Amino acid sequence: MTAALALRALGRPATVVEAGAQDRIRPGSRAIFIHSASLMLLEKIRPGLGHELNSYGLTWRTKRTFYRGKEIYHRTYPANPEGVMPRATSLPQIVTERLLYRTCMEAGVEFIWNTPIVSASVANGLVTLAAATGGSLRAQYVIAADGSRSPVRETAGLRLEGPQTSNAFVIVDTREDTEQPLPVERIFHYKHPAVDDRNVLFVPFSGHWRVDLQCHPTDDPEKFSGVDGARTWLPKVMPEDYANRIAWVSTYIFRQAVANSFTDESRRILLCGEAAHVFAPFGARGLNSGIPDAILAAGAIDRALKSQSPYEASAAIDHFAASRRAAALRNRAASNTALRHLTSATILRRTAHRLAAMFAPMIPAAGRWMDSAPYGPVLGEPDVDGMQY
Ligand SMILES: Cc1cc2nc3c(=O)[nH]c(=O)nc-3n(C[C@H](O)[C@H](O)[C@H](O)COP(=O)(O)OP(=O)(O)OC[C@H]3O[C@@H](n4cnc5c(N)ncnc54)[C@H](O)[C@@H]3O)c2cc1C
Repeated sequence: MTAALALRALGRPATVVEAGAQDRIRPGSRAIFIHSASLMLLEKIRPGLGHELNSYGLTWRTKRTFYRGKEIYHRTYPANPEGVMPRATSLPQIVTERLLYRTCMEAGVEFIWNTPIVSASVANGLVTLAAATGGSLRAQYVIAADGSRSPVRETAGLRLEGPQTSNAFVIVDTREDTEQPLPVERIFHYKHPAVDDRNVLFVPFSGHWRVDLQCHPTDDPEKFSGVDGARTWLPKVMPEDYANRIAWVSTYIFRQAVANSFTDESRRILLCGEAAHVFAPFGARGLNSGIPDAILAAGAIDRALKSQSPYEASAAIDHFAASRRAAALRNRAASNTALRHLTSATILRRTAHRLAAMFAPMIPAAGRWMDSAPYGPVLGEPDVDGMQY
């Protein structure tokens, strides 16, 4: 939908082909943490959109980190001035999608529902998408944003490359107690003593809490998952009532993969979002990098359509593909660093954590490191296309 909006902003027609039904409800909250860079990009392609998305979100200003139940770091950011985009906003992905859909309708994007695409092929400068329903669609360019299993990617001869990690994470979304809301703080516990030294992350988002339990390598994740499984541990780390307001539970073993190329041989199919890369969510680089993918793909197609020669058209698509693949590799590296820190598989790492926790009260940098490392390194300057993720 972001790619479609970006195409409309450039005055191009756009059609979204969706496997699901128009009135489907997607399970779970998935992406909750939207960085300011994403809000500003959305604002650029559709003035008002970034601010409206922010108005549905919640911005936490305080973060705390604990080690074996003892606080080792906290920081409170100053309040955000009125009208200025915050560092980030947190809301359920379904709310983000609903707003994007409404904006697409206003912008004149066409939707074709209930149409799973099974294959993509290219001939004579046209992409043909074959649908499971029997029909087919043709276009000069196709942006494949059909998720991590992407049939478009696979049939275009492209593939995701990268390992599956071995640690399991149980993710629970539970509704806020509106009568007695908890303080709006992001809290990370290393070795939470109430759950046998498992790491637990709490992130507030609009109307909810996301609670993320990191299983031990020897755990059977099923025991902690599902509503019944979550009810065995959630009351040990939150007020009991939150176990009665569970909205969603899921168990993940994350894959850290990037497509071998973000465009096919003909330079007519461009990959975006999870069709192009999948990351563990620590550091929130999935949807936040899908937005720049989509906007740059739309820009590349616009340049290709305006170009004076096939060579120039291919070069515009190649620039997109190289730039976004490089960004995905950077995002994956950052997310790998976060995962390595979280899973701390070596004695050296575990010792570093223990020492940093011990010295955090005297050496602020040690506390800062323990607080920020679970989300990976802060990315540096924007790249040549002005993108941070
Ligand atoms: C637990 C969790 C937490 C996360 N938290 C964050 C976060 O805080 N911040 C962040 O930036 N990211 C986060 N992410 C990642 C984020 O959710 C994904 O990056 C994002 O959803 C990818 O969007 P997408 O549009 O590429 O793919 P999807 O959301 O998977 O959408 C793909 C769409 O294509 C449709 N489709 C699939 N196959 C076909 C087909 N054959 N034909 C037609 N249509 C098809 C699907 O129905 C769907 O509508 C999180 C992910 C998880 C699992």
